[in-house]
Amino acid sequence: MKVTLLGTGTSQGVPVVGCQCAVCHSDDPRDSRLRTAAYIEVEGQHILLDAGPDLRMQLLREEITHVDAVLVTHEHKDHLAGLDDIRPIYFMMKEPMHIFALPRVLKVIRKDYDYAFRQHPYPGVPSFVLHPVNNDPFRVGDVEIIPIHVRHLTLPILGYRIQDVAYITDGSFIAETEMQKLKGLKLLVINALRIKEHYSHFNLQQALAIIERLQPEQAVITHISHEMGLYQEVSQGLPPHVQIGYDGLTYEITKNE
Ligand SMILES: [Zn+2]
Ligand SMILES: [Zn+2]
Repeated sequence: MKVTLLGTGTSQGVPVVGCQCAVCHSDDPRDSRLRTAAYIEVEGQHILLDAGPDLRMQLLREEITHVDAVLVTHEHKDHLAGLDDIRPIYFMMKEPMHIFALPRVLKVIRKDYDYAFRQHPYPGVPSFVLHPVNNDPFRVGDVEIIPIHVRHLTLPILGYRIQDVAYITDGSFIAETEMQKLKGLKLLVINALRIKEHYSHFNLQQALAIIERLQPEQAVITHISHEMGLYQEVSQGLPPHVQIGYDGLTYEITKNE
């Protein structure tokens, strides 16, 4: 399995428009962050996690030509505003795009992309097939996906476990029942906004506490604000199996036989 972090930035991205801070003016490419998304290639399936406003640039940068399913974590625009940019892939693959999300999130997709759901759609619109996700594991091809219910302040959102990899973004609370589903991971992708506490996202300390508890082989931080500080500085002092994520970072995960 190959995991690619397409974007690792919080909702405004980094640099932030108009910001004069050192992070927003850093020369280190690892301090530039498109909005959070990831791409997983596993057993012939190509899975996109979220489709934010930077999706077009992310698809171009990683030269992505296949998406078999989009797993959406929640409806906030930094995770959903780029869904229409999936069209070139849809034109190439000539297959409808399968989108998995909570029923509430699917409602938002129907409203925001209403032109794709008309009885006689305008030519050139994407064809979306919507799949509601509840508590039960589901499949993309032969790959089993386990939904992980997380809270983003008071909003219920989803993370996903795909084999030994789990992807959690925008979490501020994970219930005990869901923590149980995150045992024995080879890679945990988890959000942390900054060092200081934040009302609707984990901060670095909270994310590290979850990593410490779950003991994945590796963990990587995503959904990062310019307030986190410079990549180089924040990376120092982390446990050796924990990394601050950056755009384009990839992991090869081998499956246990
Ligand atoms: Zn977000
Ligand atoms: Zn800044």
